[in-house]
Amino acid sequence: MGEIKALRGTRDILPEEVNYWQQVETVAKEILTKAAYTEIRPPIFEQTALFERGIGEATDVVSKEMYTFVDRGDRSCTLRPEGTAGVVRAFIEHGLHAQGVQRLWYTGPMFRYERPQAGRQRQFHQIGLELIGSPSPVADVETIALATDILETLGLKHLSLQLNSVGNNEDRQRYREALVAYLTPYKDQLDSDSQYRLDRNPLRILDSKDEQTQAILENAPRLLDHLDADSQAHFEAVKRQLTALGIDYTINTNLVRGLDYYTHTAFEIQSADLGAQATVCGGGRYDGLIGQLGGNETPAMGWAIGMERLILLLKQLKPVPKPELDIYLVSRGDRATAQGLKIAQTLRHQGLRVELDLSGSQFKKQFKRADRSGAIACLIIGDEEVEQGTVNLKWMATQAQSVWQQSELIANGDQLRQQIWEAKHRE
Ligand code: ATP
Ligand code: MG
Repeated sequence: MGEIKALRGTRDILPEEVNYWQQVETVAKEILTKAAYTEIRPPIFEQTALFERGIGEATDVVSKEMYTFVDRGDRSCTLRPEGTAGVVRAFIEHGLHAQGVQRLWYTGPMFRYERPQAGRQRQFHQIGLELIGSPSPVADVETIALATDILETLGLKHLSLQLNSVGNNEDRQRYREALVAYLTPYKDQLDSDSQYRLDRNPLRILDSKDEQTQAILENAPRLLDHLDADSQAHFEAVKRQLTALGIDYTINTNLVRGLDYYTHTAFEIQSADLGAQATVCGGGRYDGLIGQLGGNETPAMGWAIGMERLILLLKQLKPVPKPELDIYLVSRGDRATAQGLKIAQTLRHQGLRVELDLSGSQFKKQFKRADRSGAIACLIIGDEEVEQGTVNLKWMATQAQSVWQQSELIANGDQLRQQIWEAKHRE
């Protein structure tokens, strides 16, 4: 049998990269928590019908990207391709509407059968939020501002907010007719996906990446010109409030997003530093979805940030420092190692980061590893120290050594912690 490798479109996040992930999670969690969002953790797989009904059967995601399988009980299950449908299902199932406006965030893996390339994988990760229960344009602006805040706090530059309104159902119905009337004479010149969509889901054609289709679309009627008075007022309020917060945006009338459930505000945050997969964050309002999935009609707004793309951008900035090691503990002999383990444990409880050398090899070899470990100090225990109940402390930068009583070290970890802190800040 050949070597078993990770599946195409999946990646291991190795320790050297994981710092970036943790930094994103920490920053996002802090910003979202301050805005009164709480985390929700729905399952990673759901009934297939949830996504078919929620996302829309004619979308790329449902028609060709889902990981769907039949389980041993003959149920059709699907690995979640996005987070909103599961959150909304949980919202309905647990009657969360009774608790007023819900501000929820989630993070985790999503699955789509796509052609893998930089920033596009089959298992990828998102951090997303949903603000459920408010029809107000302020909700749209609150969520967009949170996305901007997270990306800017992480230090990203060259971002642009692309904004559109896809109106309500009636607006879109009127627009659909106008768009089909415009595109039908060009049908033969459209790419094959767009030809197919012309009857089934013509708005999706706006999202086509095909150059010739894009050229034809240049003179197409605009969705923004088909909004009724209420939809226009909503969009104007969103734009006004974004401006009031100092958030720049560009109107992009072709922005329709990849999922069918959006209404009114649709937006993407793109980066000029990402190449073809430029969208870091996408989202919008989805006032129809909860009703469509069997809940009470409830307005909602949400977005998702693609973690892989975000981390590609972070790697272009200065590296995230790894957590520093305070102490590397070197020991030789069974009793010495047993005492070392105990001392390490105590020092960790006192807040120090301690790595134990497990090799039992010659001190010289262990010292080399201590050097490479990046520790501030090294603790040494051998037979002699065991006999005398002591431990040798060596500062890596100066090689200066001192002898400590083990009991003193254990009872008075503060003193050692203070010295390590000073040594770190001297460097
Ligand atoms: P795209 O047009 O790039 O395929 P999308 O419209 O399908 O994006 P959404 O469903 O809105 O994307 O997902 C939100 C974000 O999740 C995207 O902006 C992107 O950053 C990320 N994302 C989506 N699909 C993938 C994927 N296959 N691999 C990595 N990240 C992804
Ligand atoms: Mg996609």
